[in-house]
Amino acid sequence: MNLLHYEVPPTAGLPIYIHDFFSQSDSLEKKLAEFIGVDTVQIECSGTVALVVALMSLKKLSGRQKVIISAYTCPWVPVALIHCGLTPIISDAKKNHFDFDLKKLKASLGKDVLAIIPTHLGGKIADVKNILPIAKKYRVFVIEDGAQALGAKEKKQSVGLLGDIGVFSLGVGKGLSIFAGGVIVAHNKKMFSDIQKTSRDLIPNNYFMELKRLIELMFYYIFYHPSLLRFVFGISLRRHLKKGNFIKAVGDDCAFKFPIHRVGTYRKSIGASALDRFNTFLHKNRIKATQRLNQLAAIQNLKVLTTNRPDETWPFMILILLNEKIRNTILADLWPKSLGVGRLFIKSIADYDYLKPYFKKTNALNAKDFAERSMIVSNSP
Ligand SMILES: *Cc1c(COP(=O)(O)O)cnc(C)c1O
Repeated sequence: MNLLHYEVPPTAGLPIYIHDFFSQSDSLEKKLAEFIGVDTVQIECSGTVALVVALMSLKKLSGRQKVIISAYTCPWVPVALIHCGLTPIISDAKKNHFDFDLKKLKASLGKDVLAIIPTHLGGKIADVKNILPIAKKYRVFVIEDGAQALGAKEKKQSVGLLGDIGVFSLGVGKGLSIFAGGVIVAHNKKMFSDIQKTSRDLIPNNYFMELKRLIELMFYYIFYHPSLLRFVFGISLRRHLKKGNFIKAVGDDCAFKFPIHRVGTYRKSIGASALDRFNTFLHKNRIKATQRLNQLAAIQNLKVLTTNRPDETWPFMILILLNEKIRNTILADLWPKSLGVGRLFIKSIADYDYLKPYFKKTNALNAKDFAERSMIVSNSP
């Protein structure tokens, strides 16, 4: 076996250092609040659970049941909704994008809608500003899903602060990671204390799960390196690809039973120590992305998705090809090759078989087209 068989991580995740395990850093809540620009944040055990706590808090404030999500987003989002007993309403994306088509979004709004969830995917900033007036008109809450966009800013303000609530993920592969974790912010003090209360009432301790996550974080520290990553990632990826199971290959096979527990102080302190390096890391990634975008610009018929903000983040680059056939030809060659080339979410939310029982049959043709013609290239160092 060739030990120098490098595996490029699919996203640019911040590496953990050994000293993170021994540092006596300020609390993660305090440092993340400063990083995001709020008074304080709530930490949960995953981005999904952060969404659950946010949604359960809103649910107490109104009898409404429907939540509008973009047809191209992470399947954990509808899973969180369904877990809360809410009804996902899928609204199609605009052409060549993951973000809402505003016209279609308006058409699906009504007095029975509890919330809209715009998503900042791959560090690209969704248009929240233009949703706010429509949301206000129908008294609908806005939850910004910044799971893939911690550190992304528009006009010096972090994503997640325009809407009523913002959530982020500290999961593996999402920038700053404590292996599994989530963050909730809300600029309104009353809203935030509601969220804290919901969390206190809803989230139990589970010392076994917490210990498991800590050990997994230690393994992440050890294996998050090009020469070792194939043992925990590459080998199983190629096994799924060989079988043609793309949903498993990217981890889109979400389960309706997911862990819900408090995050321990020690694991949080590891994240707090790593957070000191995050801004520099994001800055370097932006420079790298710019160079890589210039190289990609030389390739004909290839579009790189950018929202053209100086403070987008670049965990990977989302490429849009001319058609599905070309995209598939490229991926058949490059995806199994450990180069950090692959796909984001495999399908439109409307097309995952395991989600189909939970909503009316929906046509989301732009999202389907986006799923069929897009691919990602890692921006990992
Ligand atoms: C990963 C992700 C989530 C869920 O976060 P976890 O920490 O994995 O539970 C939600 N939304 C988006 C857009 C994501 O990428």
